[in-house]
Amino acid sequence: VSGDREHRPLVVMKFGGSSVANPDRMKNVARRIIDKKREGNRCVVVVSAMGDTTDDLIDLSKKINADPPDREMDLLMSAGEQISSALLAMAIQAEGEKAAAFFAPQLGIRTDSVHTKARIVEIDGTRLQKEITNGNIAVCAGFQGLDASNDITTLGRGGSDTTAVALAVALKADVCEVYTDVDGIYTADPRVVPEARKIERIYFDEMLELASLGAKVMMNRSIEFAKKYNIPLHVRSSLNGNAGSWIIEEEETPMMERPIVRAVAADKDQARITAIDLPDVPGVAAKLFGGLAESNINVDMIVQSSSEHEIGKNDIAFTVASTDLKRAVERLKPVLKDLSGGSIVFSDDVAKVSIVGVGMRSHAGVAAKMFKSLAAAGVNIEMISTSEIKVSCIISRSKADEAVRRLHAAFELGRQAPVAAGA
Ligand code: ASP
Ligand code: MG
Repeated sequence: VSGDREHRPLVVMKFGGSSVANPDRMKNVARRIIDKKREGNRCVVVVSAMGDTTDDLIDLSKKINADPPDREMDLLMSAGEQISSALLAMAIQAEGEKAAAFFAPQLGIRTDSVHTKARIVEIDGTRLQKEITNGNIAVCAGFQGLDASNDITTLGRGGSDTTAVALAVALKADVCEVYTDVDGIYTADPRVVPEARKIERIYFDEMLELASLGAKVMMNRSIEFAKKYNIPLHVRSSLNGNAGSWIIEEEETPMMERPIVRAVAADKDQARITAIDLPDVPGVAAKLFGGLAESNINVDMIVQSSSEHEIGKNDIAFTVASTDLKRAVERLKPVLKDLSGGSIVFSDDVAKVSIVGVGMRSHAGVAAKMFKSLAAAGVNIEMISTSEIKVSCIISRSKADEAVRRLHAAFELGRQAPVAAGA
């Protein structure tokens, strides 16, 4: 029997805040975990704070101190996961299974000291190994770690995903299951495109692009981690038993259907800024974007063109998150003064629509097809950017949903995957 034990698959199961938002859901999750164990798996569970707990704690802190120090914020926010992990272990125990709850200081999760967005540097899995060997279901608080001075840190919003993948890496888990309130990754947002299909398998690189293009299913860093260590991720619903979407390493042999475009995404939280009539001399872009970088404003798409108005002048257009628009414009005012030239125009009425798929690498004409179907829908393209596996267009925000529907149809993403011969 003990020989068999080592061969039982090790599964890391991560449950998001909505999956444990109240006692009933918590009990439901406990039963899911117990079923998984009784199917013959060893289980390590990572849990987020219940429901909106993290937001509530942040609101609470702001009522006490308008600018609370990050160190104390981390201690405060980590309490949410401490509560949910303890309660979830109790829920499992109430059903008669062995479980034990842990928070960061017990888990050997070491991070750097960048409070509120710490990075994991090392995990000592000894304690967890021992717990699983003893037949316990280990229920771990996500989102938190311990820095070199033994201060509690947190990993950034949504950081429990990263905890789960990092533990899966440290424990050499067979799979990391991410339970959430949707059925998986879709070819487009099903609220916008009724024909959208659940994707059975998607590659890490595609998922990384999607995650940064507005498909907010998993924290980006957790996918990077999973890719680096090749931990397959299974994103699925905590509310039903359906298989979800597998996020996996790109396969050498095309065993699966390889669509040219895997999914369409829209990011409506974008704004466009155009600096016009800038002097066409070295160092202008450096000053412009240097100023924004100093203020921690992320710039996405950048297009420079010679001014239509005057020889020797340039226009530079770029996008930022719409929440950063005001700050960005303010920050650029002194920069323009310094350059003694140019002015700023901006628009909040923009969205970025993107198509993603590794199949683009080996197919010509994908971008052209995208532009054609946007044109047919009367959608004006303001900016374009491409990578090896994606094409993004900045368009008017009011046209975003229609554009996504058109692209979804043009690339036939609603079509059922072909059934393998003999199946
Ligand atoms: N509770 C944290 C948050 O809301 C971490 C997480 O949910 O993954 O951001
Ligand atoms: Mg959360």
